[in-house]
Amino acid sequence: MALIVQKYGGTSVGSIEKIEGVAKKVIACQQQGNQVVVVVSAMSGETNRLIELANQINEVPPAREYDVLVSTGEQVTIALLSMAILNQGSKARSYTGGQVHIRTDNSHTKARILDIDEAKVRKDLDEGNIIVIAGFQGMDEDGNITTLGRGGSDTTAVAMAAALKADECQIYTDVDGVYTTDPRVVPTARRLDKVTFEEMLEMASLGSKVLQIRAVEFAGKYGVPLRVLHSVEEGPGTLITYENEGDSMEDAVISGIAFNKDEAELTISGVPDHPGIAYQILGPIGKANVEVDMIIQNVGADGCTDFTFTVHRNEYQKALEILKKTAKDLGAREVSGDDTIVKVSLVGVGMRSHAGIASTMFEVLAKENINIRMISTSEIKISVVVDEKYMELAVRTLHNAFGLEEKPAA
Ligand code: ADP
Ligand code: ASP
Ligand code: MG
Repeated sequence: MALIVQKYGGTSVGSIEKIEGVAKKVIACQQQGNQVVVVVSAMSGETNRLIELANQINEVPPAREYDVLVSTGEQVTIALLSMAILNQGSKARSYTGGQVHIRTDNSHTKARILDIDEAKVRKDLDEGNIIVIAGFQGMDEDGNITTLGRGGSDTTAVAMAAALKADECQIYTDVDGVYTTDPRVVPTARRLDKVTFEEMLEMASLGSKVLQIRAVEFAGKYGVPLRVLHSVEEGPGTLITYENEGDSMEDAVISGIAFNKDEAELTISGVPDHPGIAYQILGPIGKANVEVDMIIQNVGADGCTDFTFTVHRNEYQKALEILKKTAKDLGAREVSGDDTIVKVSLVGVGMRSHAGIASTMFEVLAKENINIRMISTSEIKISVVVDEKYMELAVRTLHNAFGLEEKPAA
């Protein structure tokens, strides 16, 4: 008997009709002889609605209470899905994250799962139940409700699959797999049959929200077999594989293009160029729990230097205020920022063995008159920061220039 964890995202449970469809699918999976655990998101639009309510009181809501609020979306869905399963004649039990002992750290709004005590779930499964678990949430050791960051239900599903040593974790969503880029931006994007964990990790971290990055990290760490599928249409979806599996991986140099609209850029100019300056600038930002992404320090001149870095757009104001204070303390000339930038990235393990990808990328963007503001590279990715208004143009022309709509020869 196999154990399958299935996860259904917001649009896939966006109405009672859809929830009844999910119930049918889940029951069919059980009737094929599997034990089934289902993780669900809030109904589509619900998490945004809750955040907007909070924002009417406070632009930056108190984090603990924010988590109490936004975790309610998933609680609605688990109850409705369990009711639908029961109504269709199968056994089901719904649980919140805390109830199935998804223990997290206490960093509210972006908590990390520490461990899961899966004993209760196993007992219920052995009694023939379909287990329905609220995604996106957990509990810290003091019993506070925590949430795992936007898109966190993916991570709940993969973590449950890891804890239960499931045979497969299936992420059902509103597209039929992982594409060469977001098919909503580039209609000619192509579904990938397989993508390596490394590539998926880069794609997710660089903005492809089809899977939350922590879900991919978990899957890689615990070797969870992971597949992305359409929640209604039948099809093979996309399998996330290990590079060293040595089977017929697509022989592409570039596997995909990711983009991230959630970025903002900050610059501090005319700071005294002495050892420790990077720490003095970024230390206070880190202490405020703001994650820094790209960093550039210019070559110093006249004993002074400039420093530019990017943060999540939600944390732009917070970072700007901290940086202004640091500038005052250090006697820097100026602080400036821009929250209308995007990061566009090429990803592919094939880049390791191919030179010249970066220069082709820069040439393509230059031909379109798109100015590059920052560049960062690693072994399997090249990212550029450009003005937000060029995002679609950049992604489309790069997708075309690297021939991603064509399946490469095996
Ligand atoms: P869910 O609510 O099911 O979790 P999400 O909206 O979080 O769904 O993720 C699915 C969406 O991810 C798709 O609708 C698509 O627009 C977007 N997306 C971004 N990049 C990709 C990609 N490379 N392949 C497929 N979908 C992508
Ligand atoms: N409902 C949460 C969100 O909208 C979690 C998820 O959908 O994965 O971010
Ligand atoms: Mg999602």
